[in-house]
Amino acid sequence: MLATPRDRHPLGYGTSTPFILLHFLPLLAIFTGVTQKAVILCVVSYVVRMFAITGGYHRYFSHRAFKLGRFPQFVLAFLGGTAAQKGVLWWAGHHRDHHRYSDTARDPHSPQKGFWWAHVGWILCDAYGETDYEAIEDYSRFPELRWLNEHDWVPVWLLAVASTLIAGWSGLIIGFFLSTVLLWHGTFIVNSLAHVMGKRRYATSDTSRNSAFVAFFTLGEGWHNNHHHYPACARQGFRWWEFDPTYWVLRIGAMLGIVKELRQPPLAVRESKRIRDGHLDVGRFRRHLAAAAATAPAEAAELIDQLTAMAERAGKRKITLPESAPSVAFGAPS
Ligand SMILES: [Zn+2]
Ligand SMILES: [Zn+2]
Repeated sequence: MLATPRDRHPLGYGTSTPFILLHFLPLLAIFTGVTQKAVILCVVSYVVRMFAITGGYHRYFSHRAFKLGRFPQFVLAFLGGTAAQKGVLWWAGHHRDHHRYSDTARDPHSPQKGFWWAHVGWILCDAYGETDYEAIEDYSRFPELRWLNEHDWVPVWLLAVASTLIAGWSGLIIGFFLSTVLLWHGTFIVNSLAHVMGKRRYATSDTSRNSAFVAFFTLGEGWHNNHHHYPACARQGFRWWEFDPTYWVLRIGAMLGIVKELRQPPLAVRESKRIRDGHLDVGRFRRHLAAAAATAPAEAAELIDQLTAMAERAGKRKITLPESAPSVAFGAPS
C-alpha cells in the first residue's frame, strides 16, 4: 500500500543529536582557519568517497551490477565506510528495501512520507538502525564485511586522523567534517530530489526522475528514473550525454581487469516502457493518489492497489482503451 506522511516514525533523539551536532563542527573553521590544502582535501575526499558510495555501496553491494575479487570488494566497502553512512551491509540492505517496496509504507525513505522524510527523516528516527541481514544475505556470508559492518566507526575515525595528519586542524574541520556533511546531503538528494525534480522517461510504478543537477553532485546517480527502470545495471546514464562518471571509472576498472561482468542496459530494456511511446505512467500520479488515500483511507487504498497492479502490468504491454470505454477524468496534476 502507498505510504503517507502518517506512516512516519517519531524522531529518535539518541540517533539524531550527534548527526545534527556534526553539522555545526565545520564552523570551528573560525578558529582553525581555512588552508588551501584543506580545501583540496575536502574536494578530493568528497569525490573519492562519493565514488565509493555510488560505485560500491550502491551499484556493487546493493545491485550486484558487476563482479569484483574478494580483496577489491573489501577495499570498496572500507572506502564507502569512510563516508560515515553506517556499514555496507546496513546501507545496501535498506537500499534493496527501497527498490523492493518503492513508494509504499515498507520503503524506508518513501518520498510519499514527505520530502524531508526521504532526505533525512528516516535516518533521524530509531526505526531503521539495525542491519537487515536477510535482505543482504549474499554479502553477509563474508566475515570481513560483517566485521566492517559491526565496526563501522573504524574507517571514519581512520580518515579523520589521516585528514588531520595531512592538513592539520583545518584538514580535520574542512577536509573531513565539512566534506562529510556535504557528502551526506549529496547522497541524500538521490532519495529526496531525484524523486520530485526532473523528467520521467520510463513508466515505473514509483516517482523516480532523471535530473542532471542531482547527477552532477552524485557522480551520475541523478538518472534515477533510468535506475528504477533497470536497477541491475552498472550504468545509470543511458545516453552519451547523461553525465555518469561512476560508470566511466568502472569502465577503467574493467580495462585494468579489476572489474568483471559490468552489466549494461540492453537495447530492448532502454526502448521498453517509455512514456513517450504511450505507456501508462501511474508513477506520475503517486502524489495525488497518496492525498486521496489520506481522505478516504479504505476505498482509496484499494483503488491505489488496483492502479499499482495495473501500472505493473502496463510495464509488460501497452494499455489501449477500447473505443466504447467510459472516459475517466483525472484532475490535472499541479
Ligand atoms: Zn529511488
Ligand atoms: Zn538503487
